[in-house]
Parts: sequence; structure tokens; C-alpha cells
Amino acid sequence: MHAPAIELLIEQFARLPGIGRKSAERIAFHILDSMSEEDVFAMCDNIKSAKSSICFCSECQNLTDTDPCPICSSPKRDRSVICVVESPKEVAAIENTNEYNGLYHVLHGVLSPIDGISPDDLKIKELILRLADGVDEVIMATNPTVGGTATAVYIQKLLQPMGVKVTRIAHGIPIGGGLEYADEATLTKALEGRREM
Ligand code: ZN
Repeated sequence: MHAPAIELLIEQFARLPGIGRKSAERIAFHILDSMSEEDVFAMCDNIKSAKSSICFCSECQNLTDTDPCPICSSPKRDRSVICVVESPKEVAAIENTNEYNGLYHVLHGVLSPIDGISPDDLKIKELILRLADGVDEVIMATNPTVGGTATAVYIQKLLQPMGVKVTRIAHGIPIGGGLEYADEATLTKALEGRREM
């Protein structure tokens, strides 16, 4: 149907989140047909340099180009509270509310036995290591999905013997929905209404 090079591009785009075969085809043809060679090369360079300059923050595990990241190294942040989220998208969503002033911890996923994702695949050990540092409260802000809830409960049980208060954000986030899609007012309310687990 398509030339092999075009087909390869379509297959690669179709593997990206939220991109089906039709969208992948549209993107591939847009790049090949409508974009200038200069723009395409610049885009490739940007992807390469972003990929090679971005790493995980050694403290919160968020994506960053400086280690520690700007949030972890800010003297203005409250270091006694850590908000645990699934991915960097949620850090951005909560930061957008301007209501939270503590630190974060990014797990990079949630427990999912079906997909073979166990505690060792998440940044849980890294979270435990941070608790010695005068942390009073850990807010579990994983999504209210099966995996997000199971992960929150797993971590709560792990932290309980360590004497750290573990809270869970309130509902109001749609069940099965993602934090990243919640509006700022809902997200602020969910954080304010958190309860001890
Ligand atoms: Zn950080």
C-alpha cells in the first residue's frame, strides 16, 4: 500500500499514546507532504536533544533537565509533605492549581498484576529513602482507578509502621478518570479534602 519508509513511520506513530492508525497516517502524511525539510529536521533535533537532556530527578523522580529539579531545589517548598503521583503529567496538573507547596514523588506507573507491573517496577524504594528527611505527611494522589487505588493502599501499608501520616486525596476526581484531566478547582478541592488512610 504505502512505500516501506512511510509504512514504518505510520507504525511508529500508531504506537504513541492516543494515536490510532488513522491519526498516525495523518501525521505521517502531514510531515512528508506539508512540512518543509527544514522544519522536519528541526523537529527531529528537538526530540533528540530533549530526550538526551531530560533525566529523572534523583529526589522526586520527575522529568527534569537539572538534577535536583527546580521543585526539589526550591527553598520555598514545604519539605515536610510529599505528594505521590503516577506520572509527570500529574505534577504539572497539580502545579497548575498553584495551591500546593510541598514536594512530589513520581512513581512512573501503578501496580498492575495483569501487565506484570510489581512494586519493584515503580519508584517506591526511592520514596521510602526520602522519608528519613523530616517528612510528616505523604499524600497519595494516584488516580481513583483499580491500579491507582491498589497502589495507594500498598504504599500506605508500607509506610504505616514508619510513623508517617498517609492521606488520600478526596473524591471529586471522576472514578476511573485521570488527575491530568481534572480542572484546577476540582483538583484543589481533592487535595484540600484529603483524609488519613
Ligand atoms: Zn525533583
